[in-house]
Amino acid sequence: MPSPRASAAQPPNSAPGSNRSWSRTCRLYEGRSLDIVTQAESIGSYGALISGDYASYTAASAMVETADKLTEAEGSLQQYLLLVGALRSLSRMEHGASLTLDSYLLRALSMAGWAPSFQGCARCGALGDHSALVVQVGGIVCDDCAAPGSPRLDKATILLLGSLLAGDWEQAESMPEQTRNQANGVVAAYTQWHLGRGLRSLEHVSR
Ligand SMILES: [Zn+2]
Repeated sequence: MPSPRASAAQPPNSAPGSNRSWSRTCRLYEGRSLDIVTQAESIGSYGALISGDYASYTAASAMVETADKLTEAEGSLQQYLLLVGALRSLSRMEHGASLTLDSYLLRALSMAGWAPSFQGCARCGALGDHSALVVQVGGIVCDDCAAPGSPRLDKATILLLGSLLAGDWEQAESMPEQTRNQANGVVAAYTQWHLGRGLRSLEHVSR
């Protein structure tokens, strides 16, 4: 089945409403499905800037597709606002497309009830410097809870994941490329696991 959202981040020539005000955008949300509003308002407002940069464009596509999947059952104003905020940030190139996308994904999944744990053990809650990643149970787990062969994350990566979740951009942007790449892989795995099906647009994200 073709996804209408896959084309949602196309250049906004055909998207109406690019001049609508923020408050009107919020009012319009009521009673409408997320994808209609997203296409008509958010992408229309930020699309021109986003579509001029390939990394931003693919990140935006992944965000919109994620938001759409998370609100398939029912619309969510919170999810909508999170998405619009992330798209706006992307259009202004505030933090880099990859970091913006990863932060958005972690927050959107948290909002949907799948908040990852990057501090205490995600299974038993034990505090400590854990490093084993088990996406199926929601993040980092202690050695007792870790299955043999669980991947281990660097401390810096765990710190970065926490920063992205919290929106601590200063710390996130201070992290080296290698750390960003490892965090990026974790976020992608976590997202794919919770959304059940592969996100097509996530595969095309330009990092
Ligand atoms: Zn544990």
